[in-house]
Amino acid sequence: MNQPAKKIIFSGMRPTGALHLGNYVGALRNWVRLQDAYDCYFCIVNWHALSSEYHDARAIRGFEFEVAVDWLSAGLDPERAVLFLQADVKEHAELHLILSMITPLPWVERIPTFKEQLVQLAEKDLNTYGFLGYPVLQAADIALYRADAVPVGEDQAAHIELAREIIRRFNRYYGDVFPEPRTLLTEVPRLAGTDGRKMSKSYGNAIELKDSAETVRAKIMPMVTDTRRKRRSDPGEPNDCPVFTLHKAFVPKDKQAEIAVGCRTAGIGCRDCKAVLLEHMVLDLQPIWEKRARFEQNPGLIRDILEAGSARARARALETMVQVRAALGF
Ligand code: SF4
Repeated sequence: MNQPAKKIIFSGMRPTGALHLGNYVGALRNWVRLQDAYDCYFCIVNWHALSSEYHDARAIRGFEFEVAVDWLSAGLDPERAVLFLQADVKEHAELHLILSMITPLPWVERIPTFKEQLVQLAEKDLNTYGFLGYPVLQAADIALYRADAVPVGEDQAAHIELAREIIRRFNRYYGDVFPEPRTLLTEVPRLAGTDGRKMSKSYGNAIELKDSAETVRAKIMPMVTDTRRKRRSDPGEPNDCPVFTLHKAFVPKDKQAEIAVGCRTAGIGCRDCKAVLLEHMVLDLQPIWEKRARFEQNPGLIRDILEAGSARARARALETMVQVRAALGF
C-alpha cells in the first residue's frame, strides 16, 4: 500500500450555519497555512450536524454549501487539500459503529462539552444517544484517514484525547492499524462574541465571515468592553476585555501593544480602540468577501469540488476499512 510522503491531518466543521470569525480565526485560517505542509482532509461533517439539528435536517443541506463557499473564499484550495462531505463516505458510519463497541460509556460521559452543551442548549433536547456518541464519531472520522494530527481549538482538545484513547484500545485489541493522532492547537483558540461569551452560532453572538463591513461595524461598536471603563477617563485592562480578543486575532502585535498601554492609562477611548480594530478586520476580510461574491454565483462549481473531494476521501477510507475488517477477522 502506498504511504503518502507528507503527514496526514484531518479536521471537520459542522454545517449548522454560515461560518463565523471564531471558526475562521480558531481553525480555518490555520488550515489554509497547513495545506502545503500536510496532506489535508477537511470534512464538512453533516452527520455531526444532525446530532444537534435533527429536528430540521433539511436545513443542513443549505449550510453545507455555505461552509464550502466560506472555505474556498478563505483560501482552502481543492488542488492542495481534500474537501468533502462526511455522508458521501459511508465508511465513517461503519468505523463509528465498530469504535462505539469498544468505547466504555464513562469515557464519553465525562467529556466536559457534553454536559455543558446539554445545559447551554437546553431548548434543543440534546439528550440523545447520537449526541452522547458524537466524540466517538469524531474518533472514527480521524482514524478513517489514519491521520497523524488534528488541528483544533482548545475546546476540542478533550475530544482528541478521547480519540487517542479509543484508537489505543482498538490497536491493543486488534493490532496496530491506526496511528495515534496529535493535537495541533491553534494560536488563537478563543474569540469572544458580541455579548462577551465565547463566539458561537448557538449563542447568537457571532460575527459571520460573510458579514459586510457595515454589519461588522454595527456588531462591534456596541460590543461590551472591560467593565472598569465606565467613563472615558477610567483605565481598563485589555486582557479582561472581550473586544481585545479580536485585536489579538486581527491587529498586528506592535499595534496591539500600543493599544494595551492606551487602555491601561486611559489614553485611548473604547470607540477609538474599536475603530482601529475595524480597520484591520476589513483589511483581512476584504479579499475573502470579494472571493465569496464570485463563488456564491457558481453552485455547480462548489458541487463538483465536493464530489471530487469525496471520491478522493473514499479511496483512502476504503483502504483503511480493508485493514480494519482484516484486523477484526470480518
Ligand atoms: S480601550 Fe479597547 S481594550 Fe480597552 S476596554 Fe476599551 S475596547 Fe477594550
